[in-house]
Amino acid sequence: MSNAIRISQNQKLSLKSIDPEASGGLNKEDAKERIQELGNELEELQELLSVSGMNGLLIVFQGRDTAGKEGAIKSVLNFSSVRTCNVAAFKVPTPLELSHDFLWRIHHNAPAKGSISIFNRSHYEDVLVVRVHEFVPKDIWGKRYDHINAWEKLLTDSGTIILKFMLHISFEEQEQQLLDREKEVEKAWKLNVQDWREREYWDKYTEAYEDALTMCSPESAPWFVIPANKKSARDVAILETIVETLRPYKKSWLQRLEAIGAKAKEELRVFREEK
Ligand code: AMP
Ligand code: MG
Repeated sequence: MSNAIRISQNQKLSLKSIDPEASGGLNKEDAKERIQELGNELEELQELLSVSGMNGLLIVFQGRDTAGKEGAIKSVLNFSSVRTCNVAAFKVPTPLELSHDFLWRIHHNAPAKGSISIFNRSHYEDVLVVRVHEFVPKDIWGKRYDHINAWEKLLTDSGTIILKFMLHISFEEQEQQLLDREKEVEKAWKLNVQDWREREYWDKYTEAYEDALTMCSPESAPWFVIPANKKSARDVAILETIVETLRPYKKSWLQRLEAIGAKAKEELRVFREEK
């Protein structure tokens, strides 16, 4: 059974009731095997998505500091090609970005048909960090849920497949991860006092996430909560969700390829006859 929890639009959601430790019944060894299996299928599906050119794929990763966004992205990239896949990370907006609407910096990173965009943070920061710290008043961020739904609808109406993952860690796990950054020299570059400050807003972030996830999760662009304390279980849940979402498209991608092949062969036949 999949460990990813699919959120329905306007459902009641309490993140507290979701166990960040959940492993879907897989031990580490089983998870490793499953990741390889799913990865092989993902590789094949991505290739078909790419060469058939009918759909783009947008994968959004959100989560608190240390939730494992980069690790999760790496686990997808392990089975992706640089030709198809692009990662965009969204940081504190620049003055130029702030002088535009909040979707301005996002839109041109959306995937073209035949390609994949992975977002490390996203337009959702504008109803998360911005809401928690009141960087803009409520009458501005409050309208953004509708703006987001409308924008994502534009993308899905244009052939983009959208998946959104919220990596769900516990308060204790975050503390452990932050302390590890102080201990391990390889992680020192991630040390940031701001992460400790943000931690004090844990409950406010919980509320902001619950609202974003329930107000912006239509059938066509769903959110998934991924228990993320255990990294291998996290990666299995993510890969499984992507593969299960892409699988139903396979038939139409293959049909398109057949049509492309038939057309090219016909052109070749005419070319040879003319000689
Ligand atoms: P990191 O992901 O650790 O590189 O940090 C990026 C930082 O940029 C995080 O603290 C985000 O909350 C912040 N950030 C991203 N988007 C926005 C935004 N639209 N407004 C304000 N801060 C943002
Ligand atoms: Mg950070």
